[in-house]
Amino acid sequence: MSYLGSHLSSARGYLAMGRTALAMGADTFAFFLRNPRGGAARAVAPEDILALRALLEEHRFGPLVAHAPYTLNPCGKDPRVLAFARSALAEDLARMELMPGQLYNLHPGSHVGQGPDAGVRGVAATLDAVLHEPMRTTVLLETMSGKGSEVGGTFEELRAVIDRTALGDRLGVCLDTCHVWDAGYDIAGDLDGVLEAFDRALGLSRLRAVHLNDSQYPRGSHKDRHALLGRGCIGPDALLAVACHPRLRHLPFILETPTDDAGHAAEIQWLRERMPV
Ligand code: FE
Ligand code: FE
Ligand code: ZN
Repeated sequence: MSYLGSHLSSARGYLAMGRTALAMGADTFAFFLRNPRGGAARAVAPEDILALRALLEEHRFGPLVAHAPYTLNPCGKDPRVLAFARSALAEDLARMELMPGQLYNLHPGSHVGQGPDAGVRGVAATLDAVLHEPMRTTVLLETMSGKGSEVGGTFEELRAVIDRTALGDRLGVCLDTCHVWDAGYDIAGDLDGVLEAFDRALGLSRLRAVHLNDSQYPRGSHKDRHALLGRGCIGPDALLAVACHPRLRHLPFILETPTDDAGHAAEIQWLRERMPV
């Protein structure tokens, strides 16, 4: 069975996120280790993380999917942008080691006019600076919509980043349904074909998490505007087919739809009622 959850606020602490997830009927969740717009990491008591770990185990949660700040650009041009990316990633990953075995998702970033190849090299250089052995967290690269100068709008571009990273074998991928749709992949009309393309470029074993979102725009729009499940251009049947796909069913599915915790709880219930047990 798949694990379902949404993004939760870490403002009230880590155990509080676990309790909120339980109350929502979730068995995974996503969170930021600092303000999503950047800034310093929120202070956290080690006991709080230990208490969350006990809750996750007791209630058989799937892997959590932490998210790097949105403002972090691993392939930026400005040295200050790169310095922030490296220090924030290093700090976030150090904290993730306090809860071993979870996932940490990262946008490859934007090459800001340097060109896609330079972007790929930049992301790999940043990853080389922050990945280390032994590391018990799996870092995921997110599939992007290809908006502006985003790197990662194709599966092949993510593969190029992995190939250029020294510890690339340790990297996974998070597939965002809104992003791949906006990038042009037809997950509504030919889900199996898209998964085959993913398998050819990256290997399906690298797929470790899904961001389950509908899209406000038609396929190939490169917009990246999420919609509520079933209220966008991908549609309810196609999103259910993703959540129920036999090759994806073991993964954590994170909702990033434009609603609040109550809205996400309703979407989780909607999915659970329609998914095979
Ligand atoms: Fe994301
Ligand atoms: Fe996403
Ligand atoms: Zn998005």
